[in-house]
Amino acid sequence: MLTTDRGADALLPVYAQFPVRPVSASGSWIVDEAGERWLDAYGGHAVASTGHCHPHVVRAIAEQAGRLLFYSTMLSHPHRERLASRLVERSPAPLDKVFLCNTGAEANENAMLLARKRTGRSAIVAVEGGWHGRSVACQAVTDGAKYEQTARLAGMPVARRIPFDDLAALDAIDETVAAFLVEPVQGMGGARACSPAFLRAARARCDAVGAALLFDEVQCGVGRCGAFTAAELYGVVPDALSLAKGLGSGFPVAAVLVGPMLSEGITIGDLGSTFGGGPLACAAALATLDVMDAEGLCGNAARIGARLAEGARALGVRRVEGHGLLLGLRLGRPAKAVQQRLLERRVLTGTATDPEILRLLPPLTFTEAEADLVLDALKEALA
Ligand code: PLP
Repeated sequence: MLTTDRGADALLPVYAQFPVRPVSASGSWIVDEAGERWLDAYGGHAVASTGHCHPHVVRAIAEQAGRLLFYSTMLSHPHRERLASRLVERSPAPLDKVFLCNTGAEANENAMLLARKRTGRSAIVAVEGGWHGRSVACQAVTDGAKYEQTARLAGMPVARRIPFDDLAALDAIDETVAAFLVEPVQGMGGARACSPAFLRAARARCDAVGAALLFDEVQCGVGRCGAFTAAELYGVVPDALSLAKGLGSGFPVAAVLVGPMLSEGITIGDLGSTFGGGPLACAAALATLDVMDAEGLCGNAARIGARLAEGARALGVRRVEGHGLLLGLRLGRPAKAVQQRLLERRVLTGTATDPEILRLLPPLTFTEAEADLVLDALKEALA
């Protein structure tokens, strides 16, 4: 048989990429094919929660892979049960049930499904600047003409969208609405944090009209904002909360945490996922939680985030959005050019849908010295 190595040509060209080809990584540092080290203030899109290749996580995955790589949810597994109870322990009451799946979109999709099933309503209200994933149901609630068009083509009703943090606009949540879906701190939107008053009012409004409140914490959860969930940080508890990204330190695993409003009456066959809650994914997530506890990573995210925010302000950055290690630096100029200059200094950062925002989402293990290296590079990039 004739074989050809078509390399990158064989991939659908759907991703804009930087010219860095990583071959290994450790902690906050990536090593490329030429042996050069790159400081990762992007965290592989907020995924590298415990840093790259944390030895405890790597060991847990390797050991589990050698023992039982996979069996589906047709059989119970102690890791799955342990992970569910450890997630419930970390979540504000009354979130006391867990559905395990694989990606952020899958988690949000299931949260919306539960809300629609419970209320018998179909409409979802979402927020301008919100980003919820690539499945059709998630694109229907994500802000952006391109996503809206995909949803319409698929015959999916598009969300009613309200302005960011606008309390008066919450009136759009009425008796026809199944759920209000909101990122407490928007990720792609530029690390924009909702005000506590907005989320409290959203809770009250949902209660008044019988709609579910859904928090998409796919990016802002798992300790990123300085508490395990942003719900805890805000003191507002939704009816369901989606986690993904950092939960498995790089191994795909996601969870929907569910409160009684949405768990009541749920029975066998209502939700499902072949790979969701597989033993390897659960081992990765359990080891991630071990590291988060042992190394105090929620506190570290808050501490290092404050250092980065303060340092950025001292460099003249107009405004710093976000919490913990989900930060958006409002530069007052195109962020892409600054991101490029940081890349020339071998520092990886992110941008956002807001073109003036440079997004920082480093591993939650980021050190003071690493934060200072980012600030030094930023000073040069801004000069
Ligand atoms: N929700 C938020 C807030 C996200 O940032 C993302 C991904 O960036 C998603 C959902 C979708 O997650 P996934 O790509 O794992 O489906």
